[in-house]
Amino acid sequence: RRAFFVQTRDLPPVTKDGQRITLMINAGLRDDVAALDVTGADGIGLFRTEFQFLVGATLPARERQQRLYRDVLDAAGDRPVIFRTVDIGGDKALPYMRSDEMAEENPAMGWRALRLSLERDALMKAQARALLEATAGRELNVMFPMVSEPWEYEEARALFERQRAWMRDRGKLLPTAIHYGAMLEVPALAEMLDQLLPRLDFLSIGTNDLTQFLFAADRAHPKLAERYDWLSPAILRFLARVAGQARAAGVLHGVCGEMGGRTLEAMALIGLGIDRLSITPVAVGPVKAMVRTLDAGALRARMGEWLAQGPRDMRGLLSRWAEENGV
Ligand code: PEP
Ligand code: MG
Repeated sequence: RRAFFVQTRDLPPVTKDGQRITLMINAGLRDDVAALDVTGADGIGLFRTEFQFLVGATLPARERQQRLYRDVLDAAGDRPVIFRTVDIGGDKALPYMRSDEMAEENPAMGWRALRLSLERDALMKAQARALLEATAGRELNVMFPMVSEPWEYEEARALFERQRAWMRDRGKLLPTAIHYGAMLEVPALAEMLDQLLPRLDFLSIGTNDLTQFLFAADRAHPKLAERYDWLSPAILRFLARVAGQARAAGVLHGVCGEMGGRTLEAMALIGLGIDRLSITPVAVGPVKAMVRTLDAGALRARMGEWLAQGPRDMRGLLSRWAEENGV
């Protein structure tokens, strides 16, 4: 495996027809950042800040959060890092939060992520301050999980802006710029993109949660894990529509779910015109190798025809196409 990384590390992820694909990694711990050097990835497309909240016995103080974010940025150097505000609650329950508040029948669809953060705004304010302080003098990229309606994004962004103003009034060093993003993982948000996109700096599609909600199938249920295919026409059509709208609005967009870390799935996403993937570090080498053999334009034309028809076995079609075209 190490040899494979060394082979692909310094090669750019450019398709055979000259399209540069941005390959980033998903991370959540301080040590994960080392994977940037090992894989040659372009940055961290999803930093899951809740990991720090899940491993401790108490809520991490603002200073501890700030130290982690600063360490991650220092280790990433000039490569961008996208911090996601905490996605806690639901199945990522905190041991130190009151359990009667947290017990839920359907945790994935429950009081979690941004829903919880907007209500527990002391928690979110502390995280906002920690992120703003850690990125003072550099750029902050921040995104919000489980946005279901545009107003939730607006409130989260306004909370960050109020913290920024508070720091400015006190003469504190600020980030040079803040780029705000929303995760698209709740299907309802896709219907409101016309309103949301003009307000966004970037959109990140979280296919793990998105597919479980699209198919109403628990992502952690062993009986359902293989039942609905990421390459099903329903998912691909949905993604094509979202990506098309983001492209038309000129908003940076990509996929940060595990789907992008599988070679055939990554190929299909590129075939939909999605050129930014944030994936698990071990997948960077194989996905990069795939990208370098791919004629993205040819695949895009073919996928357009297939998706118009909606064939049941998209996986079979895609894997045969890959084989025939030397991918
Ligand atoms: C997702 O839902 O696709 C995602 C990237 O977030 P998480 O896996 O942390 O829920
Ligand atoms: Mg998610």
